[in-house]
Amino acid sequence: MNPILDGREPGEVAVVGAGIVGLAIAFHLQNDGHRVRLIERGGIAEGASRGNAGAFAFADILPLASPGMLRKAPKWLFDPLGPLSIPPAYLPTIAPWLLRFWRASLPDRYRHSVTAQGELMRLSASAMDAMVRDAGLSSRVRSDGNLQFYETEAEFRASLTGWDAKAREGIPFEHVSGARLAELQPGLSPRFIAGSFTPHWQTVDDPYHFTLALFDKVMAQGATISHGEVAAVEPTGSGVRLRLSNGEMVDAARVVIAGGAWSRPLALGLGDAIPLETERGYNTTLPPGAFDLKRQLTFGGHGFVVTPLSTGIRVGGAVELGGLTRPPNFKRSDAMLTKASAFLPGLKTEGGTQWMGFRPSLPDTLPVIGRSTASTRVLYAFGHGHSGLTQSAATGRLVADMIAGRPPSTPSVPTVSDE
Ligand SMILES: Cc1cc2nc3c(=O)[nH]c(=O)nc-3n(C[C@H](O)[C@H](O)[C@H](O)COP(=O)(O)OP(=O)(O)OC[C@H]3O[C@@H](n4cnc5c(N)ncnc54)[C@H](O)[C@@H]3O)c2cc1C
Repeated sequence: MNPILDGREPGEVAVVGAGIVGLAIAFHLQNDGHRVRLIERGGIAEGASRGNAGAFAFADILPLASPGMLRKAPKWLFDPLGPLSIPPAYLPTIAPWLLRFWRASLPDRYRHSVTAQGELMRLSASAMDAMVRDAGLSSRVRSDGNLQFYETEAEFRASLTGWDAKAREGIPFEHVSGARLAELQPGLSPRFIAGSFTPHWQTVDDPYHFTLALFDKVMAQGATISHGEVAAVEPTGSGVRLRLSNGEMVDAARVVIAGGAWSRPLALGLGDAIPLETERGYNTTLPPGAFDLKRQLTFGGHGFVVTPLSTGIRVGGAVELGGLTRPPNFKRSDAMLTKASAFLPGLKTEGGTQWMGFRPSLPDTLPVIGRSTASTRVLYAFGHGHSGLTQSAATGRLVADMIAGRPPSTPSVPTVSDE
């Protein structure tokens, strides 16, 4: 049993989940002098943090639940292998989440989400910068921006409202065409007539290696790890007891639940019904040299990105609202690869590895970072959707602020989804 220390005294904090979010939390808690115990039921960084697109997408402040998305969704849903899909059998299960998603896209709520994401992304950029430096990860980060494409004048014009919102949040970008477009990415299909370049966008060498390197750092700084699945979280008088499904128990002064898309049952056991769903995403990682890629490319109208990694060229994205148990449908990875080879003529599509991951998603696109209603000693940090890598360091800092009793590093921390 670990000593239980009260109030703002450092004591052992158990972090459930060794994905990028749990590890960034562990890192920030260690900076505050806490001892950290990670609890992970699978391999390190084997969840969504393993195979994502590797972007620090600090400019991505527009929530998915938006008037624009509602306009595009019917067309996308019509294509079973398109950017957005819902397996018909899962529709009754996800219907309440979809209703919340629709409500979150109404003008007032949408504006609130843009502001909150803008604040969180500003903190994400500065907190990530510090974490990358202090954890010795700088050599793993590329700072060459992101280039997004449009096929028609109408598609470009439709994007301008979103770019205006980004301009109001102070995000630099440049709309490009002609020679400038070709300079930023040579070899692009002429079907793309314009693009938008976001220079302050970064990517990591490989999200799996980046996350493992952070794990090595927190372990070197004295973290311990228990392997097992947390089945229940039980606040006690002076701490929190975790019951593992293998029968073991872990006592800690505090607990942070950072179990990604699998966090919902733990919160529910504490009386918090949080509308967490998963947006399943797919990709293919081609061998290095498959294309002379200058930076991460976004084909927004088709819902996927192409990312240069040290381990290859990753082509993927898409959203499948299909829950946690259904087997993957890798025809989605194939469909995006086929499109990518048309958009980037000469892309070598052989020898790829396919992957599916579970994004942990709230209807309003904002993560849950806050205390449980059952106990101030239990904190939640999950639901980062498409931006968990990007927002991991900021989440670590906000959780550390809460445990230390400091004012939060950003004013409007989403404590529970605004549903
Ligand atoms: C295709 C795709 C592309 C993406 N691209 C990007 C991108 O470019 N940039 C970006 O910022 N984000 C991106 N994301 C999103 C990002 O991957 C996720 O938001 C992020 O990885 C979530 O991290 P996490 O630590 O919360 O969850 P995970 O990485 O899923 O980790 C959760 C961990 O908790 C463990 N766990 C869960 N429950 C328990 C339990 N009860 N007991 C013990 N352990 C438990 C799991 O085993 C897992 O290891 C993408 C996602 C996908 C699918």
